[in-house]
Amino acid sequence: MNTSELYKCYKTKMQKIADVKYASAVLQWDQETYLPPKGNHYRGRQIATLAEIAHEQFTDEHLGNILTDLMAADNLAVTEKRNVQLTFEDYNRNKKLSPEFVRKMSEAVNRSFHAWIEARKKNSFEIFVQPLQQVIELKKQEADYLGYADHPYNALMNDYDKGLTVNITDNIFKNLLPSLSELINTIKNKPQVNDDFLYLHYPKDDQWKFGTELLSRIGFDWKAGRQDISEHPFTINFNNADVRVTTRIDENDLSNMTWSCLHEGGHALYEQGLPAEQYGLPLGEYCSLSIHESQSRLWENCIGRSLPFWEHNFALAKSFLILSWLQ
Ligand SMILES: [Zn+2]
Repeated sequence: MNTSELYKCYKTKMQKIADVKYASAVLQWDQETYLPPKGNHYRGRQIATLAEIAHEQFTDEHLGNILTDLMAADNLAVTEKRNVQLTFEDYNRNKKLSPEFVRKMSEAVNRSFHAWIEARKKNSFEIFVQPLQQVIELKKQEADYLGYADHPYNALMNDYDKGLTVNITDNIFKNLLPSLSELINTIKNKPQVNDDFLYLHYPKDDQWKFGTELLSRIGFDWKAGRQDISEHPFTINFNNADVRVTTRIDENDLSNMTWSCLHEGGHALYEQGLPAEQYGLPLGEYCSLSIHESQSRLWENCIGRSLPFWEHNFALAKSFLILSWLQ
């Protein structure tokens, strides 16, 4: 096979794996939005089975051989070369985990998710303790399987931000700390802003419509996504033309829904902007969770909490929420 045929073969394999992963993501989304409580157990195993299948496909020797050949090729385009390098790294990492372990982890994470939902509803940490401990134990095992230098979390951090370590992160925060505490003190010593209006009673429907309009205004593409309600707001994507966000509405706290809409909207804009032709390949996915979070925080904090943003959107807020203000 010549390089271009090999690359095509690699791409086909990766896109099939992506199909399985994103099918699992749809089940995940459904679980956090509409799944009736009695369906938890079987949903957990369905997601675990798909995780196991995706892992088996990804760690298949045939894909490994293709990647080894492509790594040695000198006639790949820059983007192709980068895809191959990143996949090869991931491949070698994943080879260290058995399909059984991947399944066990998926089931444990799922159990802890449902325990967390129940714990949150009943305001009882007790319910969450044991499932959380199980996940932590498995994560420690995972770090051992993957191998690490200096700190076990270095092995796991790599999944979110390649190359980031506990040491680098500690230094970033150590340097930020003095100026941040100074800033907080300056704010604390200023006259406090009266934000009582945020805590009036705002009916769910009015908040929902307002949030939806805010998402439209920041550019969320409703033909390539949707919004629903969940226990904890999140963004999930199945490709760049289907990006789902969720929000949470507290009728006595307008800020909850407003900032979560802008925050998740920021994540969603990033996902909707990813290159479609790279579906299933590393360059078609977010490059790191830090970059992802920078996009949500940009919209939530830098833009969404700025005076110009609210000067522009105040009329909109009034049109949806004025009745609450008048009561
Ligand atoms: Zn976020």
